[in-house]
Amino acid sequence: MQRRKFIGKSVLGGAALGSTAKPPAAASTKPVRPKGYVPSAYANSRSGWSPFTVPDYYTYADDLVIETPQPNKPHQGKVLAAVQAHSDDIPLYCGGLVAKLVDEGYTAYLIRISNDEAAGRTLGTGVVANEKDNQEVARELGCKKAFSFYYRNHRMDDAAEIEIRQRLIFLFRVLQVNTIITSDPYNHYDENPDHLVAGRAVEAACWLSGAGKDYPEHYRAGLKPARIREKYYHARSPNGHNLINRIVDITPYIDTKVRGNIANKNKGPAGTAGSRLRAELAAKGLKLPLLGDTEPSADFHYVKHFLMEDWKRLGVRFSLGYAEAFRYIGPDSQHSQEIRKYAEQHAVKL
Ligand SMILES: [Zn+2]
Repeated sequence: MQRRKFIGKSVLGGAALGSTAKPPAAASTKPVRPKGYVPSAYANSRSGWSPFTVPDYYTYADDLVIETPQPNKPHQGKVLAAVQAHSDDIPLYCGGLVAKLVDEGYTAYLIRISNDEAAGRTLGTGVVANEKDNQEVARELGCKKAFSFYYRNHRMDDAAEIEIRQRLIFLFRVLQVNTIITSDPYNHYDENPDHLVAGRAVEAACWLSGAGKDYPEHYRAGLKPARIREKYYHARSPNGHNLINRIVDITPYIDTKVRGNIANKNKGPAGTAGSRLRAELAAKGLKLPLLGDTEPSADFHYVKHFLMEDWKRLGVRFSLGYAEAFRYIGPDSQHSQEIRKYAEQHAVKL
């Protein structure tokens, strides 16, 4: 987009000045560094990112939209389901979007598919500790309740996908979900099989929980079809190379996103990493001023200044403070209503 704008301006300028005008100077190839740069340990470990460039790992669709914060609770009465394979997926990749949509009126639920048994700092205590953390993540992001399905961690492709899908359909109908956030089921470069299973199950459940005849016993039990009209698929940033058509400005919600990640104390790159680094330095008689003087401040600033750098760099690209990237799928056009309207306008007497 920026390149297209640059070319457009150049052509117009040349035409106005005539053929003798000097050609526009070539775009600088000097590496750019976002303001307030600090190294991102997370990005470096995942992608081999060079600290001297601001790379772009996404492909942007022609219909790219920048979604900005909206006042006056436009989503009041709507229900959001944020579905994750693991307790750190939603807070890391789309904690800002969840906080934004809750602030705009959504009632949100956090649904975790795995039991996170294979992840955690303390071997053998993963399931209980991560369950506790998952509940806390939901609370920090403003969700009303957290659900866990407890499928085995990193073995989700060994479970029957149709069972996961059916459980999601049931919950979507019970909760009357309107909008979902989950991992992109078409992220070809995601190494974690759980993310793809979760994404596929959610995508199919969105459609099947509608007004079709699937699982009619649900209706017999008093449930109603869910009307899921909007989907946000997140890439496993930043190395997903996904086709992105929506950039969400999460600048006002970055501190909530930070707190959501700190809540993952047993796993993930955040949690108590800041206070651990602070203690490690203190044992050597050192301190990092950026971390502050208390354990909570060390945890907060560690996450905000080191782990949120990917989303800050993405924001810089779009002149925003912080941003998250999504493949957004909006409501289908209302063909039946349009056909009826056309018929009313054009029908003639027999
Ligand atoms: Zn994950």
